[in-house]
Amino acid sequence: MKRYVYFFGAGKAEGDGDMREVLGGKGAGLAEMTRIGLPVPAGFTITTETCDYYLKHEHKYPAELRGQVQANLKRLEKATGKRLGDPKDPLLVSVRSGSARSMPGMMETILNLGLNEKCVAALAKNTKNERFAYDAYRRFVQMYSSVVIGLPKEELEHLLREMKSRTGVKDDTQVTAEGWRELVKEYKQHFKKKTGKDFPEDPLEQLWGAIGAVFESWMAEKAVTYRRVEKIIGLLGTAVNVVQMVFGNSGENSGTGVCFTRDPSSGEKTFYGDFLINAQGEDVVAGIRTPMHLNEMAKRMPRVYTQLERVRDILEKHYRDMQDMEFTVEEGKLYMLQTRTGKRAPAATFRMAVDMANERLISREEAILRVKPEDIERLFYPVIDAKSRVDLQKRKLCEGINAVPGAATGRVVFSAPEAEEWAQRGEKVILVRRETSPEDVGGMFVAQGILTATGGKTSHAAVVARGWGKCCIVGCESMDVDYSKKRMRTGGHVVNQGDWITMDGSEGSVFEGKMDLVMPELPKTYYELMKWADSFRRLGVRTNADTPHDATKAREMGAEGIGLCRTEHMFFKDFEQPEKSVERQLAIQEMIVADSPEARRKALGKLLPFQRRDFIGIFRAMDGYPVTIRLIDPPLHEFVPHDLDKQKELAAKIGVNVEVVTRRVEQLHEANPMLGHRGCRLSITYPEILEMQVRAIIEAAIECKANKIEVLPEIMHPLTLDKKELQILTDATRRVATEVMREKGAKVEYLVGTMIELPRAALLADQIAEVAEFFSFGTNDLTQTTMGLSRDDAGRFLPDYVDEKKAGIFKADPFQTLDREGVGMLIRWAIERGRATNPKLKIGICGEHGGDAESVKFCYEVGMNYVSASPFRVPISRLAAAQAVIEEKSAGKKRRKPAKQGRKKAA
Ligand code: PEP
Ligand code: MG
Repeated sequence: MKRYVYFFGAGKAEGDGDMREVLGGKGAGLAEMTRIGLPVPAGFTITTETCDYYLKHEHKYPAELRGQVQANLKRLEKATGKRLGDPKDPLLVSVRSGSARSMPGMMETILNLGLNEKCVAALAKNTKNERFAYDAYRRFVQMYSSVVIGLPKEELEHLLREMKSRTGVKDDTQVTAEGWRELVKEYKQHFKKKTGKDFPEDPLEQLWGAIGAVFESWMAEKAVTYRRVEKIIGLLGTAVNVVQMVFGNSGENSGTGVCFTRDPSSGEKTFYGDFLINAQGEDVVAGIRTPMHLNEMAKRMPRVYTQLERVRDILEKHYRDMQDMEFTVEEGKLYMLQTRTGKRAPAATFRMAVDMANERLISREEAILRVKPEDIERLFYPVIDAKSRVDLQKRKLCEGINAVPGAATGRVVFSAPEAEEWAQRGEKVILVRRETSPEDVGGMFVAQGILTATGGKTSHAAVVARGWGKCCIVGCESMDVDYSKKRMRTGGHVVNQGDWITMDGSEGSVFEGKMDLVMPELPKTYYELMKWADSFRRLGVRTNADTPHDATKAREMGAEGIGLCRTEHMFFKDFEQPEKSVERQLAIQEMIVADSPEARRKALGKLLPFQRRDFIGIFRAMDGYPVTIRLIDPPLHEFVPHDLDKQKELAAKIGVNVEVVTRRVEQLHEANPMLGHRGCRLSITYPEILEMQVRAIIEAAIECKANKIEVLPEIMHPLTLDKKELQILTDATRRVATEVMREKGAKVEYLVGTMIELPRAALLADQIAEVAEFFSFGTNDLTQTTMGLSRDDAGRFLPDYVDEKKAGIFKADPFQTLDREGVGMLIRWAIERGRATNPKLKIGICGEHGGDAESVKFCYEVGMNYVSASPFRVPISRLAAAQAVIEEKSAGKKRRKPAKQGRKKAA
């Protein structure tokens, strides 16, 4: 019989920490903590497979489930010595979600389940605390009504507020037993009015209702959104954990908290956490009250604190990673309710990985595998520019807890939907809330930063923002947020919706106005870890750069050459001398309008010095590293004006009749320019363009070489579709190069190769490789032409293709992450066939996929020599290339590796 339920309790567990896929993170953690002897309340976990079954079978459970839940409930009753629904000593349980990947707050939890009129009376009697018992009951009725039945939370909160104002109290802590009892009655009346039914008294009915609600919450809008933005795919669903309740709100000797084995913001090895005395369950995470720091807990409950520190030590050593733990203290007794690998700020990721490797807690390989591409991206998040810092103190609005570092500047909005709306129109926004809840994730995601009045570093806002590396400040207590008036007051200032503010998430300070942000200094541990990564990887990593400035930047990021220099980008802009841009544009436009090869050559002659200067700058920046220069690629119509006024202006400047310009623009018009007269077809039709470009490259190379710069040019023809076509182009390239070298009396080494961007080229790679010295896969076009999807327009419907709640056809956008199945098959074929006829063929990739970690791993698998990525993605590719090697090693796979040539020239 298939097992759907796993029990844990009294020091034994049927599951373990490796069963995250089946038990979810929480269930696996509870089982593992039980096994290693930590204090964990007893319970059982219903597997994620059950959720999968439930969602695929019209919300019905597998036939075996009822029996298995009943049997495990019996075991739970035996382990706790209490019975569900017992009018004398009732067992109360929490019913909690938990998926294999952490989705903080996105799914549902129900606490205090098992309470009814009789059981609440027993709880009051047994604890001699009526107020506590009825508080627990009203929380249960409230949670059950909203989570299981779907009654709006706001209506229930309204009843709570009314009761408080009627009885004249401000805080929940001041409400009496009578007040809570009255509220339960009102909640139940409300329930009856809305559903036509009585609130369920039968604890078993309550239990099944809660189980179903947790499963349903897997497909709730917020959970689906979270998975989409976090790129969580391939999970079965959520598990359900039914666990004996322990109460942190049973008095001053009780409490609840969340803690991390190391500081999640800085990565420092200090015990960090938040604790609330006399509070239950989600109070810390919900951020409703601002908690105390663990140091304070150490003073208030020294014995429990010491025990908690011991647990910290055990768990970190056991899991060999920073743990994020939830615990409850009930009447001075510690219970661990959860442990999971904690989310951390980007810089903390590097610090922890490097520190743990140096402490020998993990190996260097593991340290490298711990860093995700997003962690690198987020390291480069900005800080406030020093120039803006001058009169910073005067502009300070308030201070809070520095939950996630980095800085953000934007216009204040007070609701998540508005944040989304504003962001859609291109506004930069800061989402300001009293606290955030999972419903807010859409708005949080688009915001530059998140600011809340309450909560600690473990509040919902902090946890979610940290996962995204998004600047976040919480617990800004001086902030008085008025949602109805869309404004907040803080220390005598009023900030209205739409006003600019700037946040410094590293300090936890908020300032009025818009400030300039700049790139931060990278932590030392980043360089250390990247050095380790470089020592493992075998793939070269180059960059796509068109200017000396970008090339220099890319070198700083660790690029070992240029994999794609798009020469046409230089036609329109002079990056070093912007005032010369117009001159360049005119030269290219004159060339296009020209009606004879001679006239074209004359115009191209004007462009030559510009191109040569650009190449010299790039060669200098890449001294000693290869530089792949691609000849003209886009259709010519992209370079000429399409409106009449601009055409008139151009005609006047180049001294022709406006009709000449207009006619030429009309001639260039194509119904389908992406499949039109572009790529190397242009050099076939207009060989003088090729001649000018090759001349500029070789002249630049000769000049650099004379100045002791080591140059390794690789001349690349785009969009080739045939061997003969490439032969003509290669012959022309070599002829011009030889001519220039003869003229200058100098010699430089260079390669001639092609991009593989069309299925035909990939299919006939064996023939093309007989001519080409290298291949570079242009996977932007190759994806477009293989899939028949326009790279410029498919964005309109592709989101539906990757949304699991919609069509869910692709796992990822194929223009971001390489389609291994289709496009990948062509790449494998082309590499195999190409190397068969030309074993020395150098192979790389220069489409956007070269900077996507998953795609880089594919490139390694298929035996490329290098990948090329935009400058800021170079570190991501370096890391992914190292991870590919380590993952391969651990999977024990064998692969034919490209010979590792000397680092510099190999790339
Ligand atoms: C490609 O098509 O992948 C490529 C790198 O060329 P471009 O993006 O310039 O068309
Ligand atoms: Mg292309």
